[in-house]
Amino acid sequence: NCKNSDDVVKAVREHRIELVQFWFVDVLGTLKSFQVLPGELEAAFEEGMGFDGSSLEGFCRIEESDMIAIPDPATFQLVTWRQTAAPIARMFCDILEPNGTPFAGDSRHCLKRNLQAAASKGYSFYVGPELEFFLFESSTSPKPLDAGGYFDAPPLDLAGDIRREIISCLRSMGIPVEYGHHEVAPSQHELALRYADALKMADTAITYRVVVKEIARQNGCYASFMPKPLYGENGSGMHVHQSLFKNGRNLFYDADGDHHLSREAKAYIAGLLTHCREFTAITNQWVNSYKRLVPGFEAPTNIAWARRNRSTLVRVPMYKPGKEAATRVELRSPDPACNPYLTFACMLAAGLKGIEENYTLPAPVEEDIYVMTAGQRRDRGIGSLPGSLETALEALEGSTLIREALGEHIFTKFVENKHIEWDQYRSQVTNYELEKYLPRL
Ligand code: GLU
Ligand code: MG
Ligand code: MG
Repeated sequence: NCKNSDDVVKAVREHRIELVQFWFVDVLGTLKSFQVLPGELEAAFEEGMGFDGSSLEGFCRIEESDMIAIPDPATFQLVTWRQTAAPIARMFCDILEPNGTPFAGDSRHCLKRNLQAAASKGYSFYVGPELEFFLFESSTSPKPLDAGGYFDAPPLDLAGDIRREIISCLRSMGIPVEYGHHEVAPSQHELALRYADALKMADTAITYRVVVKEIARQNGCYASFMPKPLYGENGSGMHVHQSLFKNGRNLFYDADGDHHLSREAKAYIAGLLTHCREFTAITNQWVNSYKRLVPGFEAPTNIAWARRNRSTLVRVPMYKPGKEAATRVELRSPDPACNPYLTFACMLAAGLKGIEENYTLPAPVEEDIYVMTAGQRRDRGIGSLPGSLETALEALEGSTLIREALGEHIFTKFVENKHIEWDQYRSQVTNYELEKYLPRL
């Protein structure tokens, strides 16, 4: 565990590390990496390493393309998924302008800024995401490797050993996993990570995606975090369990509150419900994300909360009711192909807004929302999540709260990028249309 640059330089020498990968993400949360020789490390910590920002999504224009990456020593880790003799390591980087100011397009900085604003009011933000994924034959053939379902064991689950390898690799990189299991859809899996502070967890989510993909590749298959790869089957979600701590205590817990929830917990949930439409383009950023948010597949479509009901957007898990440390709120809409930095920043902004403005929480909806008619939902005041990337973008563009949480630069670049994606998509002629229309029209 390194605290500063000296620790890193020492560790690199001790482990005879040949290369250090410098990691950061673009505005969509895609991992970017470059390999740095040990001899360059000291200078990198002091002055950063220069790179061309204009070739990266959501970064900058060609006229102002010089960017600097400064590694964060606290994130130094040996890369353990590789089997070769020459060890390598990785560090996450903060991105700066040449004049040394934080770059406004850096997602990690965006999350840090939101966490600092929360910290100035005494709040620490903890999250526990559940990233689901599929294992397929290859990236061009989404063929499941098994026909297992939820919690299935062998012989239905054929990936127990791959999950075990992933878990042990994550653990050796300092990432605690609580359990792993086969998920509902064929060849779908999930590993539950022990909750951590949001910045650390966003870094961890990026590492998790790499480790899962690398171990799958070593096993001759392909791991995908695509939100809805198989029509007619559950998609992959990234439920995010969240809690706020103040003075070392879980602020969401109140022994005397109904459902053991504090005033703050209820207002936080109300904040999520009130602003979820505005941040859905961030938590569900691809055209394909909206194929998952349909009724019948355990993914939320409507804006409501509940304690047990898995058709709602927000759930307050009831595994250990009344236990302070376990009291938390689960947001079920995000998918694992999101940018985790921006996703955590937006959730926090929405929840805190609820607390600050003392939003009132509507009654929980414990009945299955999927089977309610539109009229029944309307009577109960249950709104719906955006049904497409286009609708989600409209809601995002109208949001002052999310504009502020993301910052002008990321907000603008993100919206631009996503309009292009939507325009490309909507002009496609799909197999669905050919099969449905060509014989008739
Ligand atoms: N795969 C479901 C989703 O799309 C979630 C299933 C579950 O873990 O409850 O969100
Ligand atoms: Mg799950
Ligand atoms: Mg869950």
